[in-house]
Amino acid sequence: MLALQGDVREHFHALTACGAEPVSVRREAELAAVDGLVLPGGESTAISKLLEVFGLLEPLRQRLRDGMPAFGSCAGMILLARDVLDTRPDAQSLSGIDMTVRRNAFGRQVDSFETDLEFTGLDGAVRAVFIRAPWVERIGEGVEVLARVPSGPAEGRIVAVRQGGVLATSFHPEVTGDLRVHRLFVDSVRERAAVRPS
Ligand code: GLN
Repeated sequence: MLALQGDVREHFHALTACGAEPVSVRREAELAAVDGLVLPGGESTAISKLLEVFGLLEPLRQRLRDGMPAFGSCAGMILLARDVLDTRPDAQSLSGIDMTVRRNAFGRQVDSFETDLEFTGLDGAVRAVFIRAPWVERIGEGVEVLARVPSGPAEGRIVAVRQGGVLATSFHPEVTGDLRVHRLFVDSVRERAAVRPS
């Protein structure tokens, strides 16, 4: 768990409930020791700043280049993007997924809402909680769309994606008690850890 800012505790609970052993990552040595990383919801520009302050930005980019599995929800999705629209000019991106994300995309009127959506690879609807959420405006080759907004003004907008072992959702699976998205991530971490030479 990247534990600089945001809803770290909710992800901790979800990961523990999946049988994983989450630890807090705030230092380079802690990052080097994990098999995968969750980037929480929160405030992407604050987390970006703290990544710089804690000297984690380059080490984290390197681990993502090396194929470390990661999962980002909301602010975490923004951080994992290659390009971000409507953010601060000094905000950093990690380029974990070749995509362009628009921050706070749903607008003021409907900046927080919930909906049920279909999620590729999961049986049955997923309850999606959006809180000042981003959406995905462009995906590169090799990026798989896992979910879109099913109806309403933002119908069709991409809100969950995966590229290799890196997963990102605009919404917050960590707040609903539905562990299926976290399980997808934990399974990909286990698969990679099983084949990685130690
Ligand atoms: N709007 C926030 C940001 O830009 C994300 C909101 C969230 O993570 N719930 O980081």
